[in-house]
Parts: sequence; structure tokens; C-alpha cells
Amino acid sequence: MTTILRNGPDLESLDKRYLFHPFTALADHERTGPQVIVKGEGVWLEDAHGQRYLDGMAGLWCVNVGYGRPEIAEAIHRQALTLPYFHSFSSWATDTPILLAEKLIEMAPVPMSKVFFGQSGSDANDTQIKIVWYYNNARGKPQKKKIIARRRGYHGVTLASASLTGMPSLHSGFDLPLDFVRHTTPPYRLWEAEPGQSDADFVAKLARDLEDLILAEGPDTVGAVIMEPVMGAGGVIVPPKGYYPAIRAVLDRHDVLLIADEVISGFGRLGTMFGATAMEMQPDLISVAKGITSAYVPLSGCMVSEKVWRTIVDGQATLGVFGHGYTYSAHPLAAAAALANLDIIEKDGLVEQAGRRGAFMHERLAEAFADHPLVGDIRGHGLVGAVEFVAAKEPATRFEPSLKIAGRIVKAALAEGLITRALPHADTISFSPPFVISEDEIALMVSRARTAVDRVADELVREGLW
Ligand code: PMP
Repeated sequence: MTTILRNGPDLESLDKRYLFHPFTALADHERTGPQVIVKGEGVWLEDAHGQRYLDGMAGLWCVNVGYGRPEIAEAIHRQALTLPYFHSFSSWATDTPILLAEKLIEMAPVPMSKVFFGQSGSDANDTQIKIVWYYNNARGKPQKKKIIARRRGYHGVTLASASLTGMPSLHSGFDLPLDFVRHTTPPYRLWEAEPGQSDADFVAKLARDLEDLILAEGPDTVGAVIMEPVMGAGGVIVPPKGYYPAIRAVLDRHDVLLIADEVISGFGRLGTMFGATAMEMQPDLISVAKGITSAYVPLSGCMVSEKVWRTIVDGQATLGVFGHGYTYSAHPLAAAAALANLDIIEKDGLVEQAGRRGAFMHERLAEAFADHPLVGDIRGHGLVGAVEFVAAKEPATRFEPSLKIAGRIVKAALAEGLITRALPHADTISFSPPFVISEDEIALMVSRARTAVDRVADELVREGLW
């Protein structure tokens, strides 16, 4: 890749002056400014100074086919020339969203009937809540409106989806969560299970916690539960075997719908096309985004089962039109990008490849970190992995959150030319590289991460913090 020399505008100064960054420590940013990425190819990124980084996170868990795929760029170009936009309100349609909806329903991990398109994971989960509410209004159960999510779950940042997200730091500045949301226990073995507890006993406890919550709230008031097959931003938390069947049994007893948030896991990340398959989940509704276009353009979708769909259609007689939809719902350019992206995934066998490379990555992570004194847990599934840091192993003891251990390690990794991500609620760093990453690149990613962890471990000792 050639270095791009920027003789143009001073992007760093302009950024500091004009751009309001999401999820950014703004006072620090005013001092330090941005890192401006100007180019990507495969798993590699290049910044405005010509510095190269291995992107161990595929952006934000999303550039699954890697950077620089001409097939997607050409599909976007062709669609923009033919028809950049027309809407889908009032029975209008364009061709690519129809073809994409057909494809998604064919691919779905459990039988699904229709797809509603939006732009982001957050708006998809907002739409799911409105679908659940309309569905329960339509069948004469207007009290059934509460939505249960999990502590540490991540479902987005709009007012409703941020409320579902189980992270206090996303609530405290914004008077959230809204009052229809409740949170239950995540399947987080390290901190939620008793020492030595069997998987079966842990699953039984998690199912009991959920059922107790539903009973305490009143089953007549609970509409749905939303869960990521593997929890992503909350710490890459993989549930024990048997977890989702146990959850489903609870939901069936109380007439509660299950929404699978497949925004990260959809389209191959866990080594199966959908995470629901890998995790034995039987959802009624599925949210997708990110990997549907590998993030080349924004697109999300809500898949809806026939039972829910038919109730909504019949409900219109009494409730009136399903008054919901975005200007950009079923955007033809985004759908063209998605079709090209899914074509690559199928033709190149990238789902199977994500599974194989994932297995290789987990071996390398175990080799590099299993005996490290700073490491309390290594986990993941398919091509998503995480390493959690602890102050002591037996019994597992957390670091003081203000030390921001994961953030320090991510900074040290960046100095090694590796982009990883701090999941600060779990003192964890995560790996979620593009599916096209080679074995050599995985080995490099892990060895750079190991160097960063060693460096921070030395610093902590030197500073008397560990
Ligand atoms: N759900 C999950 C599981 C996610 O990981 C994310 C984003 N990280 C979202 C929803 C929200 O998606 P977006 O940022 O596109 O709104």
C-alpha cells in the first residue's frame, strides 16, 4: 500500500474545531486531536501520516469482508447511476431491497416471514420494540409492553435502544433507562457463577433469575426479551451450552417474544451465518446491521416471524396503519451493497473461513495469554475473542475501574500498530478482525497484543499499582 501524503487541509485542526465525536473523551480530544484514517486494504489501515495499523476489530465489529473490495464499490457505483434513491412508503418499491429481503428470508436461521429495513443497529432495535408493542396492542394485550434485556448487553444508543443497553455509563448522563425496560443477569461465568458451579447449574440459575423477574413484574406486562447470541461490547460473553433453550422455555411459559440482536453475530462472525444457529437460539424477531453490508454503507434490518407479521397485518383494521418508517428504509443503494457483500461471503466461503480462522485465533490467544499473571479469562467463539485482565486470579479480583487497564493496553497496542478495543465495563480487550485475515496476520495480531500487555504489566508494577 502506498503512503498517502497529505498536502491538503490540516485535517487534525479542522477536526478539533468542528467535529463532535461519538463515544469520545472530549476534553482529551480537544488537546490531542484525532487519528485520521485515510485508506484501508484487507485488514490494514493507513493514517494521514502513513502509519499502518492491523485492524483487529474490523472497524466496530463490522467490516467483515475487509477493506477495499471492488465488487461492493462497483455495486454502489452502478446503483447510484441507475437509481440512487426512491422510497418504500405507501407500497412504493425499488428492486434491490426486494431481492435482498428475499435473500435474507431464505438465509434466516429459523423460519422468518418479512424484513423491515433501517439504517443502524440502534434503529433496528427501536423498530423491534415498536413491532412488539403494536403486536401486543393488535392482539388485545396492551399491558404487555416491558422489554427485558441483560446487564452488560449492548443494543444501541437511541433513547429506547440505549435503555435496553445494560451499561450504566450510557444511562447516567441522559436520564435513562426509560421506564419500560428491565435488566436480568448476563451469562458471565467469571463474575456471575459460583466457584466450581457446573454449566447446567449456572444455566438453571440464569433461567430462574429471568423467570423470577418476569413473575415479579407480572407476566401480563412483559412483551419481549432481547439478547445478543454472544454479548459483544459488554465483554464478549459466550453463554454456556443449553442457555438459550432454557431461556426459551421460560419465555414460552409466559407468552414473551425473543428478539435476537444479531447486529455483530449476523453474517458469519461466529462461524455460522447467524449466531442463533451457533448458540441454539430460537428467536421470533432478529435484528441485523453491521455485517449485512460489511459497513460499506449503513443498513439494518428487522426480520419478523409469520406469527408476528400476521397479527400486525390483521391489527391494522383496528389500530390503523403501522405508522413507522424512515426516509431511508429499504434504501436501494444500501441494498445493492448488501447483495454484493453477501455474494462475496457466499462465493469466498467466508463463513466457514471465519470459523477456521477463529479456531486458529483462539489457539494463539490461549498460547499467548493462558499463563499471563494479568489475565483472568480468555474467551470467544468463531472470529470474536477477548482477554480479560484481573488484579488477582484466585479468587478473581477486579482492578480499580479508575485504572482503566483495558484502555491502557489498547493504547500500548496502538503503539505496536494494532487496533483492538477496550471493553471497559469488563476490563477486557476484544478481537474481531475481518474474515479475510490470514493465519500470519492473526499470529502478528496476537503477538502485538502480547507485547502491549507485557508493557502495561511492567508499568503497573513500576507505578506500584499491581
Ligand atoms: N446491537 C449490537 C449487538 C451492537 O453491537 C451494536 C453496535 N455495536 C448495536 C446494536 C447498535 O448498532 P449501531 O451502532 O449501528 O446503532
